[in-house]
Amino acid sequence: MSRQEYESLKQGLFETIEAERDRLKTVARDIWENPEVALQESASSERLQSILREEGFEVTTGVGGIETAFIARYGQENPVVGTMGEFDALPGMSQQAKAEREPVEAGAPGHGCGHNLFGVGSLGAAIAVKDAIERNELSGSVVFFGTPAEEAGGGKVYMVRDGAFDDVDAVVSWHPGWYNAPGKGSCLAVDAFDFTFHGETSHAAASPESGRSALDAVQLLNTGVEYMREHVSDAARIHYVIQNGGSAANVVPGEASVEYLVRAPEREEVERISEWVRDIADAAAQMTRTDLNATKTSGMYGVLPNHTIADAIRENMEHADFPLDDEQAEFAAELRETLGDGEGAIQQIPEPNRDIAREEAIFSQPIDALDEGQTGSYSTDSGDVSWNVPLGRFRAATWPVGTPAHSWQAVAAGESLGTAGMEFASKTIAATLADLLEDAELRQQARMEFEERLAGHEYESPLPEGADPYELVKR
Ligand SMILES: [Zn+2]
Repeated sequence: MSRQEYESLKQGLFETIEAERDRLKTVARDIWENPEVALQESASSERLQSILREEGFEVTTGVGGIETAFIARYGQENPVVGTMGEFDALPGMSQQAKAEREPVEAGAPGHGCGHNLFGVGSLGAAIAVKDAIERNELSGSVVFFGTPAEEAGGGKVYMVRDGAFDDVDAVVSWHPGWYNAPGKGSCLAVDAFDFTFHGETSHAAASPESGRSALDAVQLLNTGVEYMREHVSDAARIHYVIQNGGSAANVVPGEASVEYLVRAPEREEVERISEWVRDIADAAAQMTRTDLNATKTSGMYGVLPNHTIADAIRENMEHADFPLDDEQAEFAAELRETLGDGEGAIQQIPEPNRDIAREEAIFSQPIDALDEGQTGSYSTDSGDVSWNVPLGRFRAATWPVGTPAHSWQAVAAGESLGTAGMEFASKTIAATLADLLEDAELRQQARMEFEERLAGHEYESPLPEGADPYELVKR
């Protein structure tokens, strides 16, 4: 393909996305207006599916045992490229599209992480690539992965276990944020446990000698872990919450439970620490003459970055325009006012862009990765995807500068303002998927980097045997 053909191919992708602008904005708003939390996203999932079906994609639902998870595929040929779309909302985050804290309905869910934009942005890209395949400008197949329940602890891990990503050559995905940059960093692997102790109830004052306190066991477990904490790596994170500590002070608690999360950069370390925590739990049961039920409830891998795809994403960002209209810009400025000076966040941006970020309400200028060589202190179910297929990730500016995810401002921005960044994301994904379909060398480089980063490790699902997605735990 000549340079000129290549440019006209990308122009064609952008034109499709622009032609779809109104429809995509409407779908993003509809999902925003009907926020559905993890595993209950049936209307949102169905909305995306029905458009994909209309566009000629073949849709498989119920992937990984999750009713709202789906794969939509167009084409039978190799190579196969994919993108992912999330669409779950957060409980309690209801908020109107205005520049002051005011829920639509107090206590109701809201799109605090911009997943309405996430799903629809990726949808726009999948449609554009499909159109180009249909016009014979590209050859191969494109897959849209409908990935639910991100907020509840990881629908993608179940989709991976089901083999959903097995025959895909590369995946490009994004997440809403307040800047436009590819991701080159990693994050923490995690395991989740439930420890439930069983003792004997008795009157805490009249016959304590007959009781065996399950709460004592929980306390000793937590205390033991606090002493262990000094002897794990600095990057590890261990947190717990007592979910059941008994019901009344005058009753020796016969049952008590605590939930644990163990995180570290490498899965091996997560597993080593988890084993130690289990030993402490056993010892706590012994000390208190109680019985222990220890259950692993969930697990995830850290992200394997792919710099090859990240560089292609960065290059394409230069050509994708950012269609912010006056009304959106005005609302962005109002929202930004509610966020303080945002200096804490702005400091992440290196000069000279830091000054631009400081001045703008929406920071639309693409920048280089901010996280190269870093391991973020969070976990994501994209980690498991990245261990199975070369995965490129980026953030696009759907929120005003410095907006934290899961804030009311993020919800407010998601109704309309964020659709400019969403379109930018659609174009960036579409152009990068086109590169991956068209350029065998790029594909191979991405694969080689992936193999190198695997360093001979074999992916084994971190999920416990027979894990049920509908018992997902919160991270
Ligand atoms: Zn999110």
